[in-house]
Amino acid sequence: MKPSKTGRTSPKAFPCVPLCSLWLRICVALSLAIATTNTVACSKGTSADTSSAAATRPESPTTTPTPPEAAPPDSAPLPHIDSKRAFQYTREVTAFGERYMGNENHKKLERYILDHLKGDQVEDDAFTADTVEGKFPVRNIIAKFPGTKDGIIVILGHYDTVYPLRNSGFVGANDGGSSTAILLEYANQLRDKKRDGYSVWLVWTDGEEAVKTWSDTDSVYGTRHLAEKWEKDGTLKKIKALMVMDMIGDADLDIVRDTNSAPWLLDLIYAAAERMGYQSHFYASEGAIQDDHIPFVKRGVPCADVIDLDYGYNNVFHHTPQDTMDKLSPKSLQIVGDTTLETIHMLDLRPTN
Ligand SMILES: [Zn+2]
Repeated sequence: MKPSKTGRTSPKAFPCVPLCSLWLRICVALSLAIATTNTVACSKGTSADTSSAAATRPESPTTTPTPPEAAPPDSAPLPHIDSKRAFQYTREVTAFGERYMGNENHKKLERYILDHLKGDQVEDDAFTADTVEGKFPVRNIIAKFPGTKDGIIVILGHYDTVYPLRNSGFVGANDGGSSTAILLEYANQLRDKKRDGYSVWLVWTDGEEAVKTWSDTDSVYGTRHLAEKWEKDGTLKKIKALMVMDMIGDADLDIVRDTNSAPWLLDLIYAAAERMGYQSHFYASEGAIQDDHIPFVKRGVPCADVIDLDYGYNNVFHHTPQDTMDKLSPKSLQIVGDTTLETIHMLDLRPTN
């Protein structure tokens, strides 16, 4: 179990360990904010948590000042993804069934992703992960959309599902499905348009999930490998911002403010959401989230984890066979998709640093 900064790690607080690794992650995170007994439920519905969230609202100038250059005057039309299409992708991805590293459904999904990227500039980052459950093939898929400005914006989303939940009926509609799908829709939006801005790279990451119990060495296999590779080849220095999409399809959308992310980038995303009128879906709660961005955070890349970890009452659908399409909504994909595209636009307009 990963210790929290407060050292409060009693398993009593985390009844679904070890299978619910991401649940564990938010539980640990929220334990930082909830100063109460370790039998507190790991939800965002407590009064303690509400007050914590109220103290960190991004509009508060005392806690999270927005850089003055972050939102220049701009009359460009607001972007919109095709959420119906993105939802259909989610449905098709989920229909493959469980998709853990290396299984047959995973291979089918790799082909599905590549089929949707025909004609695009696509690269692989493939390797073998040595894990506590044996060796697994891992394959990050990268699609590059060149821009006119020097620098790269990276958007990541994992496409694997949870190995310990194999044969349980877990299909990961939200957890794995929604992230795979929204990146495919971003590719549609970026394709065939000359980018007057930074290059945008989309990465379908593999091995995000732990094979046994979430830890620094049993998690984010794909991005740990990719971050190391990009550090060696100099790519990391060119990345202006990196955003992770994870579990963004929940019909009751509530994006958590991740304290491991770069505050200025979170603020920029919030400003983009405000422009679209979507801000009520962002940052009602906060927590320190462990996700695909961490290997990049550790190397100084400005990152934001865009994640909703309040999936059903008390996060009850997370890492369970109840993570199915009926819990999701095209509207949520619309909100996250539009906000992300607007964030990219606002990043393009920021002065080069
Ligand atoms: Zn997960």
